[in-house]
Amino acid sequence: MNEERYQQRQQQLKERVEERVAAATKTGGILIVLTGNGKGKSTAAFGTVARAVGHGLKVGVVQFIKGTWENGERNLLEKNGVEFHVMATGFTWNTQDKGADVRAAEEVWKEGKRMLSDPSYDLVVFDELTYMIPCGYLELDDIVDALKNRPANQNVIITGRACHRDIIEIADTVSEVRPVKHAFDNGIQAQKGIDW
Ligand code: ATP
Ligand code: MG
Repeated sequence: MNEERYQQRQQQLKERVEERVAAATKTGGILIVLTGNGKGKSTAAFGTVARAVGHGLKVGVVQFIKGTWENGERNLLEKNGVEFHVMATGFTWNTQDKGADVRAAEEVWKEGKRMLSDPSYDLVVFDELTYMIPCGYLELDDIVDALKNRPANQNVIITGRACHRDIIEIADTVSEVRPVKHAFDNGIQAQKGIDW
């Protein structure tokens, strides 16, 4: 491509980008869903938390995780003023004691709902929320209502595989992480600082 054509093409590209930037006139909080079977959903969510904290924003996190092991993101972010509510003890995917699991889920969801009705939170993260719906631990309608009625400027991130379509529908940004390869399939163990 000669110099003149290259410049012409760059100019057109610049104009198209500028048009799109000028067309984006709305403001307000957005709902982001990070879903799919590949690695990178929770780490992307906590990357955004780090970005928000770096700008002095107020952030709350609810983690619907399985065990009680410590996770690196909490160790770091709690020290930096991020509020964590973790569904910790006794959570069994095999539902040996479904009542206890439901109570644990409801307990942290209550904190999540409180944050979803408090405009002082700029960003609220619900890590691994998606699994609570098919398991029957939380009500889909309750979640959708709380998300829809949150303060206009509040941003929310939801992570987890197989996100329910009703949540996808009300989301503004949805990314699906696709596994091309995963080290674990090749027998490589999960590592502290990389996987949790
Ligand atoms: P991460 O926290 O690393 O961003 P994730 O949130 O996208 O992962 P989860 O399903 O929440 O994915 O994964 C929890 C754990 O399982 C992490 O330790 C992650 O490395 C691992 N994992 C994620 N995807 C896969 C996969 N396709 N195969 C095997 N292990 C996976
Ligand atoms: Mg995750």
